[in-house]
Order: sequence, then C-alpha cells, then structure tokens
Amino acid sequence: MKKGLLWQILGAFILAIIVGLIFGDGASYVAPLGDLFLRLITFIIVPLILSTIVVGVTSAGDVKKLGRLGGKTITYYLATSFLAISIGLIAGYIFSPGTGVDVSVNEEAVPSGETESVVDTILNIIPTNPIESLATASVLQIIFFAIFLGIGIKLAGEKAAPVQRFFEGLAEVMYKITGMIMKLVPIGVFGLLAPIVGEYGAGVLLPLIKVILALLVACIVHVAIVYSFAVRTFGKRSPIQFFKGILPAATVAFSTCSSAGTLPVTMKNTQENLKVSKETSSFVLPLGATINMDGTALYQGIAVVFIAQYFGESLSFAQILTVALIATLASIGTAGVPGAGMVMLTMVLTAVNLPLEGVALIAGIDRVLDMMRTSVNVMGDATASVVVDSSEEKREAEAA
Ligand code: ASP
Repeated sequence: MKKGLLWQILGAFILAIIVGLIFGDGASYVAPLGDLFLRLITFIIVPLILSTIVVGVTSAGDVKKLGRLGGKTITYYLATSFLAISIGLIAGYIFSPGTGVDVSVNEEAVPSGETESVVDTILNIIPTNPIESLATASVLQIIFFAIFLGIGIKLAGEKAAPVQRFFEGLAEVMYKITGMIMKLVPIGVFGLLAPIVGEYGAGVLLPLIKVILALLVACIVHVAIVYSFAVRTFGKRSPIQFFKGILPAATVAFSTCSSAGTLPVTMKNTQENLKVSKETSSFVLPLGATINMDGTALYQGIAVVFIAQYFGESLSFAQILTVALIATLASIGTAGVPGAGMVMLTMVLTAVNLPLEGVALIAGIDRVLDMMRTSVNVMGDATASVVVDSSEEKREAEAA
C-alpha cells in the first residue's frame, strides 16, 4: 500500500506537469481538487499540534528531559539554518543571478516592509487568550499553550490523569484522520501543481532562470551534503532510506508551499517510515514547521545577492555577516505558509539598506522558488527529528 502511494504521488506529479504544459491556463479547472486537499490537511493542524505536543511533553518524563530535548532541537535548527544561509550566499555569488537581467520592477508588488520587531515577536509567543490562539491558528502560541498544558498535567499528577488520557486519545484520533487524508495526496498534488505549471509557462521563468537555478543547486547541495551527513552521522540512518521515507512529505510541501500544512504528513512519514518515536516527532516537528526554515534561509541568501547585483550595489563583508545573522532570525520568524519567506526578505533587505523594490523583481517567480524552499524546510525538520531521536535513544541505552 505504501509503495503504491509513493508511485501514485510521483504519477500525479508527472501528470500535473503534462496537463499544465498542454492546457496552459485551462489547467486551472482542476484547481478545486488542490483546494479540497489543502482544506482537508489544514483542518487537522490545530488539534494535531495541540494534542501531539501535550502528549510529547507529558511523555517526556520530566521537565529536565524536556529542556534537553528543546535545547538539542533548537541548537540543531540554528546550526542548519546558519549553514543554509551561508550556502545560499555562496551560490548567489557563484551564479551571480543579478547580472544581465532584463526585468522591470512592478511597483505594485513591493511589500510594505513592515515586520514586527524582535521583542514583539518574542512577546507574541505568549498568548493572552489561548482559545483565540486556537481559533486563529497562531501556531507558536499554540505550541506555548500546549507545552504549559503538558507541564501542568505532569505537576498535577493523579488528578489530571483524565486530561492526559483525553489528549492521548485526541492525538491518536488525529493520526487516524491524517492517515485517511494521506490517501488523497496524489489528487492534491495533481490539483495544486497542474494549474501552477499551466500559469507559469516558460516565458515567465526564463528571464530569472539564473535565480531559479541558483536556488535549485543550493537546495541540492544543502540536502545532499548537510542532511545526508546529519542523518548518517548523528541520526544513524542511511540517507537513501531517509530521503525515500520523507518523499511524500517533500512532494506535499512542494505542491502546497506550506510547511505548516504539510505537518500531518511529515509526522506520519517520520514515525512510520523513519521510525522516529512519537514522543520526539511530536515535539520536534511542530516546532520545526514553525521556526526551522533552511530552504527559506537559502533563498534569502540568494535573493539578497541577486537584488544587490541588480541595483549595482556591492556588499561589504560586514554586510554579508549581517545578512547571515538577520536571515537566520528572519527564517525563524517566517510562518510556514505560502509566500511568507518573501515578506520576511524585506527585513533582511532593510538591515543592509537594499531597496525593497528588489522583492518585486522576484515576486513573479516566487511561487516556484517557494516550492523548492518549502520542500527543503520540511526535509530539514525531518532530519532534526531523526537526529534528536537517535541521540535520545543512545542516552537511554547508556542509562539502562
Ligand atoms: N512557504 C514556506 C514554508 O511554508 C515559507 C516561505 O515562504 O519561505 O515553509
């Protein structure tokens, strides 16, 4: 069955490209199939995140273990994001995508450049009304709420046992619903991709082909070198098995451009195909889908070099360092939804005084860039779950 699903997804992928190329704009008729899938996968996110994180925390044993898990996860996320932005900057300079480009700036597509300050972003993680956070799907606030619910349940002991069992049951139910929705992945991939291929004929992509190529190569390098190394050395798994296991989630990420939306599939793939414990995956993955965006960091590195070259500005070494730091922060602040990385790019451009109009230059092809970066974002989260899980296993084996 699982092998069958993988082939169906790849078949849907190829069919979508063929239909898109043949029917052009007419391929938009199949868009409702994509919307159907998107809505189905979005509707489970809030209860899934809430219940799995509560269960992740209550089963973590003690607060000390939770702190250790959190520390490892965040360190891994920061390290890989920093590597990603460095690879992005290097790819930017090697490909020099901003030289000899003939596209004009579409003023309407210039974002306002208003992003929250770092202090506000941090304060906003604390919900003033958790029910509102659930209703508006504010993922970081839900994570905060769930972690404290979990800790509270542990501290309350016997009295809170029914609450714990309730969340365990809810998490199980959400996994089952995810399983049902997974069967529709091929239809979703087809419905989402065909209209995009139809809309983006080669004409839209060609002027900026170097930007696309630079990102593609940077993504491949990051995945093939950084992820393979991490999975093999720290995760104690074969990279080939890893990539095969995570392929469905990567394809869903590619077609939905949303790591938050892909979360249910990422969780299922890591637990079933990569044998990551529920405990680790339910803590590491929702957090990763919200704060770990290696693909977005790669993209920002390339985009900054591209925009600087286009406007004839050269970046000093200090500016490059600033880009690396700010882009790491910006990728943390990027929400796992389509196009979010492009909005956060304004933060990086502002930090090094580059014109915000630059964003409008790539806005036309952003969807294509988003597909690539979101796949990398999701794969990055999965590598973290594998790495953290085997380090926890090793610790437990040593303690036993
Ligand atoms: N679409 C990306 C994601 O959901 C975020 C981005 O735009 O970079 O992971």
